[in-house]
Amino acid sequence: MNDCIFCKIIKGEIPSNKVYEDEKVLAFLDIGPVNKGHTLVIPKDHYENIYDISDDLLKNVITAVKKVSIALKKGVSADGINIAMSNEKPSGQLVPHFHFHIIPRFKEDGLKHWPQGTYKEGEAEQVKEKIKNNL
Ligand code: AMP
Ligand code: ZN
Repeated sequence: MNDCIFCKIIKGEIPSNKVYEDEKVLAFLDIGPVNKGHTLVIPKDHYENIYDISDDLLKNVITAVKKVSIALKKGVSADGINIAMSNEKPSGQLVPHFHFHIIPRFKEDGLKHWPQGTYKEGEAEQVKEKIKNNL
């Protein structure tokens, strides 16, 4: 994946503000922060999304997310943390290299969560079955 922007960051071909690195994982500041300190955590191997990353590597990535979240919360005196990741374009994924966003949150920072809907009578049970049938 030569033209992957995050692979280029891993190789040092594009600069980044690294906050954490180990053998398998890199964390660096998002260039367009939702709030200051917004950090991306990525595997050093190229996987596009949650469907194809190996379970073993995912454990390394999520462990790093926890470590960085605690440091980030303390470091920028955040009141809370959002952890998010998008998979495929319709979800908003712009960079097709697996990444978690860690976003520091502050009381009254004005950010809104996505809107919530409702289920009609019996609909939740049907949806639940559709998911369970594919496990
Ligand atoms: P997503 O929409 O989940 O794919 O998020 C991609 C994120 O990567 C966005 O929040 C961008 O601001 C961020 N981003 C893109 N290029 C860079 C870069 N060179 N350095 C740091 N963050 C970047
Ligand atoms: Zn990549």
